[in-house]
Formats: sequence, C-alpha cells, structure tokens
Amino acid sequence: MTQAEFYRQGELVGVLTAQPLDRVLDYKAPEGGCFHGAFVEVPLGPRKVLGVVWGGGKGDYDRSKIRSIIRVLDVAPMREEMQLFLQRAAEYTLTPLSAMLRLATRAPGLSDPPSMQKVYRAGGAEPDRMTDARARVLDTLEEYGGLAFTLKELADTAGVSTSVVKGLVKQGTVLEEDRPRDLPFAQMQPDQAGKNLTGDQAAAAQALQAAIQTGRYGTTLLRGVTGSGKTEVYLEAVAECLRQGRQALVLLPEIALTAEFLTRVEARFGTKPAEWHSGVTMTERRRIWKMVGQGGAQMVIGARSALFLPFQNLGLVVVDEEHDTSYKQEDGVLYNARDMTVLRASICGARVVLASATPSLESWVNAEAGKYDKLTLTSRYGDAVMPDMRAIDMRSETLPSDRWISDSLQREVNARVAKGEQSLLFINRRGYAPITLCRACGHQIGCDHCDARMVEHRFLKRLVCHQCGESKPIPETCPNCQAEGKLAPVGPGVERLAEEAQELFPDARVVTLSSDMFGTARALKAQIRDIAEGGADIIIGTQLVAKGHNFPLLTLVGVIDADLGLQGSDLRAAERTFQLMRQVAGRAGRSSRKGLALLQTYQPEHPVIRAILAGDEDGFWRAEAEERRHAGVPPFGRMAGIILSSTDLQEVFDLGNDMARRDGPIRQIGAQVFGPAPAPIARVRGRHRVRLLIKADKGAPLQAAITRWLAQFRPGNQTRISVDIDPQTFY
Ligand code: ADP
Ligand code: ZN
Repeated sequence: MTQAEFYRQGELVGVLTAQPLDRVLDYKAPEGGCFHGAFVEVPLGPRKVLGVVWGGGKGDYDRSKIRSIIRVLDVAPMREEMQLFLQRAAEYTLTPLSAMLRLATRAPGLSDPPSMQKVYRAGGAEPDRMTDARARVLDTLEEYGGLAFTLKELADTAGVSTSVVKGLVKQGTVLEEDRPRDLPFAQMQPDQAGKNLTGDQAAAAQALQAAIQTGRYGTTLLRGVTGSGKTEVYLEAVAECLRQGRQALVLLPEIALTAEFLTRVEARFGTKPAEWHSGVTMTERRRIWKMVGQGGAQMVIGARSALFLPFQNLGLVVVDEEHDTSYKQEDGVLYNARDMTVLRASICGARVVLASATPSLESWVNAEAGKYDKLTLTSRYGDAVMPDMRAIDMRSETLPSDRWISDSLQREVNARVAKGEQSLLFINRRGYAPITLCRACGHQIGCDHCDARMVEHRFLKRLVCHQCGESKPIPETCPNCQAEGKLAPVGPGVERLAEEAQELFPDARVVTLSSDMFGTARALKAQIRDIAEGGADIIIGTQLVAKGHNFPLLTLVGVIDADLGLQGSDLRAAERTFQLMRQVAGRAGRSSRKGLALLQTYQPEHPVIRAILAGDEDGFWRAEAEERRHAGVPPFGRMAGIILSSTDLQEVFDLGNDMARRDGPIRQIGAQVFGPAPAPIARVRGRHRVRLLIKADKGAPLQAAITRWLAQFRPGNQTRISVDIDPQTFY
C-alpha cells in the first residue's frame, strides 16, 4: 500500500464525522499537518466532535468560513482498507457513511489523552507488624510473581479491604505506581502444543493453514456436527495466522462467549485473547480498540460488532455458528455480520472460516457452487455419537389441553432421572402463556401500542409485549367485559412447561433457561456452568440452549412442539426449524453416553420433520435449494424489505401506494415491487408499519435502483423509511 497522503497546515481536507449529516465537511489541516485517515477532533457548530480525515477537501465552500481541525488524536490512523470497507458496507446496506463510522468508533474516550492508572506491586520493605490480612496481601503479590494489580484487584484477590493495602503502601511494603491505562495484551504462543488432532481434524487444519499461508482472501465453510472438533481445528488456523504476524478475529453469537471458551483459548495460546462484547467494561473497550489499532492485540473474540474494530493486519476471521440469526443486526444499521466479514476479508486479504453444524442455505449453496472451499468433519470426537432421533406422533397421544409433556416423553425422562442423567425439554417460546383469554367474552389481551397479544410472564408477574417490550400487571378483571376471575392462560411457554415438569417429576431438580429470567449475561452463564456440572436433572429451555454449550450428562432431548417453526409464511421457516432441531438434538450425548432426541409433532410426515429424523442434511439442503431456485428467492434472487412507519396510518399507506405506483427505477432493472401491505406486526410502539418487498434477479444492481427510486419521495416528518437488504425476518 502506498504511503498515506500528508496534508500540510492550512491545506483543505475532508473530514467524515459520526454525526448524522451524511456528508464529508471541509476543514483546514491543523498546526503540524495531518495524515490521510487520521482521527481528529473538529468543531461542529458549538460542539467538538470526533472525525476521520477522509481525503482532500472539496473547496466548494467559502474558504474564509472554513474552520481548522482542533487536533489530531493519539490513536492509530484509519487504514485505507478500513475506509474502503466502511464505504462498501454503507453502499451495500444503504446506510449513511456517518452511521458506519459510528459503528467503527464504538469505544468511549477515544479523544481523551492517554490516561494513567495507579497500580500496586511488591516493594520489599518489611511491615512494622504482620497481621493475617497483611500476610495475605504479601502472599498474593508473591504468588503472581511481580504482576501489577489495581487497588481493587489486589484487595479482592487477597480478600482484604483496600485500607490494608493502603497501610502497606505507607510502609514501603507495597509500591504504588502510575502506569498507562491502555496496555497491550500479552503475547500469544502459537507454537505451544495443541491437542492431538484426529485424521479428519488434522487434514482440515492443514488445509486452512495452507490457505492462510497464501496471504490471500478466501472463504472456507467448515462443517461438522456439534462436538466434532471444529473449534480445535480453527484454533490451529488462528495459530498459523499468528505465526504469520497477522491478527485473528473469532466471532461468536453473544451467548456462546463463555468463560469455558476463553479458557480453551488460553490453554492453547498461553494467554487470554481480547474479549469484545456487551459485557465488557468501557475502560476495557477503549483499551481493546486502541490496542487492536496499534497491533497490541493479536486475537480478539467477540460478538458481531467486533468486525468494526480497527485491525491493522487482519489475517483471519472465524464466524462460529455462522447460521446464527443473531449475526443479523435488526435495528440501527441493518447488516449481516457474516456477509460483512466476507466483504472486509476480501478487501484486506484475509481468510474467512464459516463454522457450523447446520450452515445457512446461503453458505451451503456458495460451497456447492465452489465459491467457498468446503471442509467437513464427519464424526464426533472420541466416543461421542450422534443421538438417535424419533418422532412422537401427538395424534396418538392422549393429552388434556393444558398439558404438553406426552406419556412417552414422560417415561423417557423418568428413566434418565433414575440413572442420574440429564434431560432437556425444549420449547422455543418465552414466558408462561402466549395468550391470555377471557373465558366469559373471548377477549384476548393485546398490547396497547402494537398489534400483538400480550404474553404472560409469571416469573415477572406481568404481561409483556414481545414486540415493543411494553408490560403491565396481570389484571384481575377482563378489560373488555369486566368479568372477574375469568382470565385464563392459553398455550404453553417455557415457564408453564417448567411448572408442568415440576408436577410430573416432583423429585427432580428442574431448572429453566430463558433469556429474560436472568438479570445479567454473567448470571446466565453461571447457571449454565452449574448445569454442566450436574446441578440439574431436567432443563427447560428456549433456543438459548441450542447454542454451543456442552452438557456432558445430557442424554435426552424432548422437543415439545416441533411444528412451531413450520407455520408462518417466513421464507426461512423450514431452514430455521431444521437448524434449530439439529442443534438441539446435538446437545444430547456429547460425551460417551449415547443420546436420544424425541420430537413431539402432529405432522410426522412433513418433509422437514422427516429430513431431521433421517439425519439427511444434504438431502434437506438440496430440496430446500431447489424450492428457492424455483421461486427465484435468496440465495437465487435478491430481496429488499422497505418498512415505512409513522404515527399516522393514512400517511404511511399513501406513501406506500405512491411508492408502488412510481416504481420506474425498480422496473428498469427488471425487479418488482410488492405491496404495500401491513407489516405482519402492523403496529409497533404506536407506529403503524407498512411493508413493501422488492424481488430482483441475482445480478441486478438493486441498491442503486432503490436509491434512485427512494429519491423521488419526500416523506412527512412523522414517517420513517428503513431499508433492509437481504431481510432475514419478515416483519
Ligand atoms: P465443535 O466446535 O465442533 O462443537 P469442539 O472443538 O468443541 O467441537 O470439540 C468437542 C469436545 O471434544 C471439546 O471438549 C474438545 O476439547 C474435544 N476434542 C475435540 N477434538 C479433540 C482432540 N483431537 N483431542 C482432544 N480433545 C478433543
Ligand atoms: Zn407492544
């Protein structure tokens, strides 16, 4: 890459800020000049804001009014490839560039001068008298061999109050020093021995390593059932990347970022990687952002937004559980981290590894077509074997209407409890009951702001709208007919299932895992660890449990309603159901005990259910791919969702109709506009929502056409238009 351009003091430069202006503004280079890509502080109206020197100035503005950059920040400049990435990502997702820059600067205090922090280490002087507490401090310092602690860390580790440490500082026994806050991460050791890989695993690892040695972009789909050692394999790819002196990023769904995973990385490389997700402190965020930018962090594991960190030399990105829907950000900037990973890697010459037991259809098709390399691990590691899978035909079970655990399932659970093994009962629905019905008048309690029913959450003692999050106490009387004591829960949610399980299995320890029942990610992870160590007999869970946890004692999975995902008009319903069921089933029998997965279904002959039971993955993908090809839908065609929302119902419909009528730019590329139709949830947070859908051929220049099309309309003040390229969900 060429030497970055330098601008002398007073020269005009264009600065992109993260403010919602959507244009690059001219400024004068500051005293001392600045480089292309420099992070700077600029005046904007009465404020000082963060920006990046995006290029030369345009000079189309009165020069005497142009202000000067205030100062250049003490952080590594943005590389040209990062600029290019943000630009392309903005074009692809039809997002303003300023919003992309916001994503790329999500760390606090970037414009603060490098700050210092007080640290504590052993001083050598003897204290005047030794107490128990003081001895513990000295032991701790000795045990960690010269490492520095913060005051709180030292006190907590030694189990003493901070005043004990302060007392020792006065006597010179402990030294207090100032140290820069943002320290580099410890050096990782790629040559430390890893596990002994099996033949399959070693072959896959070697293929990845060879690919990384080329130093060129390429994507590999790494397939393998849960427990086949995909993680072991891609850690060897990380090792090769580190040996090449490049940085590695491992993306995981937030919930899979567990202490267990960190420990595995530490065991392999001798030290922990940088960790980037919503649970990380602000101080740590800033440290990671800066260190990634100046090469002081070799490996980052993180949730999707880690892709926007300012890597200086990114050589590998692993997207683990690549099919996971949480990679698609559904508010703010609508992007799919998996797709953006491929974009970023292709710009900076990095390898991408997409790992999954049940890949997305998109990735499966790309691998079949030879666009991606393909590596497959066929068996589970060690003695672990895939579970047996069977359907329970609910048409021949006799269950009262407020019971969901069939006799057959109950028998199997009892057998597991007797043997000290664990069972998982899975239902993909949070709360107690999806419907609260008045038995007197038939009224169903709905949300005041959305067209959605309120879901009873007994744990929270409230009715909750799963669309907007609004909640209210459970009423005593029907809000429609005022009848008292007639409101009844209808249908099962995870909490109600737990209640039933508690009754059916009174001597078993029943634990519920649902995202809304834990105040913090930490509490949830603690619960997961406890279960893994045998702290429960029966686990009642939502899709939360489908993701990457290892429960060695788990040998039975009962899927309460395997039909749930098959209803609805979602294009990806079958794919989602298939993935979810396979993942859930993959929870059973991960150690040496063989597992059993039972699917309660009213339609055992449904093709998706049959494919799941047969374990015929490629058969399922082929059939599904054929259907989509036939319909011309993704990945064989392109789609975009346009959601119009407004507090004024008439206004959104008028605009929607107008847009459907004046569809010239869309028709010009051979694409079609469908709608407007009320979005499946037609009202959210008091805003009416109308949806248009655009379908285009695979090669059509969709974004450009949408831009030209939207430019024709001037929506009212209350109306918002949001564009979702490659929509994943259809509301
Ligand atoms: P996946 O990522 O495909 O679910 P993992 O890499 O997590 O699989 O492997 C499952 C379990 O088997 C882990 O506990 C892992 O440490 C262990 N394992 C896999 N391969 C090996 C190996 N070659 N040697 C020792 N342990 C292994
Ligand atoms: Zn609502």
